Amino acid sequence: MSKPDRIKAPRGTFDVLGEQSAARAILEDRARTILEGAGYERIETPAFEATELFARGVGESTDIVRKEMYTFADASGRSLTLRPEGTAPVCRAYVEHGMHKQRQPVRLWYLSSFFRHERAQAGRYRQFSQLGAEALGAEDPAVDAESICLLAALLDELSVASVRLRLSSLGSLAARQEYRERLQAHLRAHSEHLSAEVRERIELNPLRAFDSEHPGTRAALQTAPRLLDFLSAEDAEHFAEVRARLDAAGVAYAIDPTLVRGLDYYTRTVFEFTSDRLGAQSGVGGGGRYDGLVEQLGGPPTPGIGWAAGIERILLAGAPPHPAPAPVDLFVAYEPARDDGREPARRHAPAEAFALLSEARTAGLTAQMELAGRSLKGQLGYANALDARYVAILGAGETVLKDMLGASQETVASDAVVHAVLRGLRSL
Ligand code: AMP
Repeated sequence: MSKPDRIKAPRGTFDVLGEQSAARAILEDRARTILEGAGYERIETPAFEATELFARGVGESTDIVRKEMYTFADASGRSLTLRPEGTAPVCRAYVEHGMHKQRQPVRLWYLSSFFRHERAQAGRYRQFSQLGAEALGAEDPAVDAESICLLAALLDELSVASVRLRLSSLGSLAARQEYRERLQAHLRAHSEHLSAEVRERIELNPLRAFDSEHPGTRAALQTAPRLLDFLSAEDAEHFAEVRARLDAAGVAYAIDPTLVRGLDYYTRTVFEFTSDRLGAQSGVGGGGRYDGLVEQLGGPPTPGIGWAAGIERILLAGAPPHPAPAPVDLFVAYEPARDDGREPARRHAPAEAFALLSEARTAGLTAQMELAGRSLKGQLGYANALDARYVAILGAGETVLKDMLGASQETVASDAVVHAVLRGLRSL
């Protein structure tokens, strides 16, 4: 029979191993401290949702819905989609659980996996993790500023290098409609200079032209009308108040009228944090206000604002936190049985070693034991590599307890080993 082929992880996905996994745990811990300290509660939503949620919530004209979703029919023929983003699911949960009846704003955070069928490259994956925070039920500009400040604090805490903040306002949906028509007219008038993709989307999603890298498109946009000039007096006032609060908090930003972001639900404040460390995929995190979204999903009129930041990009652009290895109080070693020529040598660890391991753990010690049949020298080398504080060597009739820090050893009765280790640790 031929050797079976090796099966690889799908393109655009990756395994999280060892140090990376520890660095993520630290990141999650810091995020929890910052966000829960500010009144956010953790939420977990399902990995898949009804496709309709994203079609309606994220918008039919967006790249995500048009070409990036992992959509499938389940056994009963229902169309489901692996979540490509977190805001629509959080709003769905807000409506489903009647959270509008709670004290507002309801503030929720998440750290989960998301799925988009994108062109895989460094910093762009098909399954990735996002940390997100959403505040629903308040339209006060202080909520916008607080949301932005929390992400700024988190990126700072995680030492993400060369961070810049771009900020803009998209105004309310009504003002955007008027602007959309003006922009469409401008793009039509310059259509021969535009990329084919932008030209095709003049009717469907003209604002996405601002995300194009195409030189002709960029040149045509130089003279395009600017959304910031179309804000209603109320929206302009809201934007000014957000800026004043960011100024008061000492958060630096650049106003960028071309910042549109790729999702249909945004209104008023939008923002994006980039890092020069990241090359082409420079976005670390971003978000904005989505005052119509909850209503669009069947809930009561509810303002909302939030952001999502990519964990992989934070780790790429930051100084990954150095995980401290878990301490090992006791390593249980044993004298391998000698082959005396009559019976085959024992290859497995003796039951006494396992009994001591269990006793140590029950007593609250962190303990490991030899599991790979190494020589005694090999076992001591391994215990050393684990940075074990004590090593118990079970021999015939007696146990030698080595203090790896004090470089001393004593012979102890086997039922006194745990006690001796506890006493030694306490005397530190
Ligand atoms: P978005 O929901 O597109 O605004 O993305 C928010 C953040 O998630 C981005 O700034 C990235 O850090 C991260 N992100 C989005 N898409 C991907 C992806 N395909 N791979 C890795 N990170 C991503």
